[in-house]
Amino acid sequence: MGGGTVTHHYAGAHGFLRSEQTFPQGAHDGLRNAQLRRNLGHATATIRAKRAAVVDEVPDWEALRSAGSAIKTEVMARLPALLVQLEEQVTARGGVVHWARDAEEANRIVLGLIREKSAQEVAAGRAPVDQVVKVKSMATQEIALNEALAEAGIAALETDLAELIVQLADDKPSHILVPAIHRNRAEIRQIFLDHMPDVDPDLTDEPRVLAMAARAHLRRTFLAARVAISGANFAVAETGTLAVVESEGNGRMCLTLPETLITVMGIEKLVPTWRDLEVFLQLLPRSSTGERMNPYTSMWTGVTEGDGPQSVHLVLLDNGRTEALADEVGRAALHCIRCSACLNVCPVYERAGGHAYGSVYPGPIGAVLTPQLAGMHGSGHADSLPYASSLCGACYDACPVKIDIPSILVHLRARHVETARAAHRLPTAEQAAMAAAAWVMSDGRRFAASEKGLGAGRLLGRLQGDASRIRALPPPFNAWSAARDTPAPPPETFRQWWSRTRGSRR
Ligand code: SF4
Repeated sequence: MGGGTVTHHYAGAHGFLRSEQTFPQGAHDGLRNAQLRRNLGHATATIRAKRAAVVDEVPDWEALRSAGSAIKTEVMARLPALLVQLEEQVTARGGVVHWARDAEEANRIVLGLIREKSAQEVAAGRAPVDQVVKVKSMATQEIALNEALAEAGIAALETDLAELIVQLADDKPSHILVPAIHRNRAEIRQIFLDHMPDVDPDLTDEPRVLAMAARAHLRRTFLAARVAISGANFAVAETGTLAVVESEGNGRMCLTLPETLITVMGIEKLVPTWRDLEVFLQLLPRSSTGERMNPYTSMWTGVTEGDGPQSVHLVLLDNGRTEALADEVGRAALHCIRCSACLNVCPVYERAGGHAYGSVYPGPIGAVLTPQLAGMHGSGHADSLPYASSLCGACYDACPVKIDIPSILVHLRARHVETARAAHRLPTAEQAAMAAAAWVMSDGRRFAASEKGLGAGRLLGRLQGDASRIRALPPPFNAWSAARDTPAPPPETFRQWWSRTRGSRR
């Protein structure tokens, strides 16, 4: 199977942001999986081509990007006031706003609301609530809500097709927008056959047939659901309106059919006014799925009597965001509208796969967002992520809100070096190697003497079976070669070549 086994372990108040594996350790698994790389390569190339074509159609695309960037900068500058305005508007229209500092608190609030609804059902002589339906949502993945609900005996059923595939296979998403991007059609068919009761055993792997099977599976669930949980792509501060954009219509069913609707939203998802939505509703679909317009845009403002959910809750999630906001460079990562364009153009993501990032936020945006939300401590998973990039800049070019990801990566690398220096009284192997290199290179004679050691490098390569590459360096340099091959030194240095060819003319 292309997905492989996901071995990350997640825990603590931060939910699914942290992993026990560093990026290089995770990337090893991804790089060994040829099927995963083929699936990813095919899918990202297809989305890239679609996106490029529809972006080319828009004459003012660059102006739209600048507008999106400016709106987000304004939101970050006025976030506290805008959040208060949003709370007032939602409350005035019959909704209830809850504030959650971290994943644990958010999960506790959602669970409390479901239990409240369940008690009402039991009091009315109906069965307790033991199942909820979900609209695809990054925020609820971030806080590990499904797992928290499962522990309390409540099943959370994903209704987005790709999310459903991941859930049925007991897998982890590997892409923001297409969580099952690492699976091909044959694999999906097998997952349905193995895990969907009542599925037609003659099911083919045609996309339409697979979608129909999922639809039949979900329909029964929608009609019975009493509680739905969603995320939100945008929240309009001036009116208290929440918005979800999606492609399949399953989200619309979740948002309208159940009696109770609970939305979990990161505090950065705000826009000040309705007019601002106009910009993002153009930028988002073209950047994410390569569509001119997303098929379903659902918006709701508080409670409407006799129409849709009669109990509407909004959980505003911090989970490290105010700390990220305090960093003048890093805060731009909070501008992200989760379109996933940066993932689809990233050469590192395409080869390593989303699981390597050990967080619900993979790819270039994950490499800058996760360390800020989860915190950097000088070593470990979050500290390894800013290095998960070649700094080629493709992500910056693709980002619809102009987040300068390469600059944030460099900024976070500097922060990591500072944190590591403060945490270790003795220099790390990397610092010692850099200091030694500086000492050697700052003196011509020392540099010439060091070249004599290059023959050993060539020999190492030959001993490891490839004269052009060194696969493993001896300690303390083995940390470097654990994740990359090192080119073996050339047979002749520049100085040797110079004295051999021009030496007589000196
Ligand atoms: S960083 Fe930019 S390109 Fe990447 S997901 Fe966010 S908005 Fe999209």
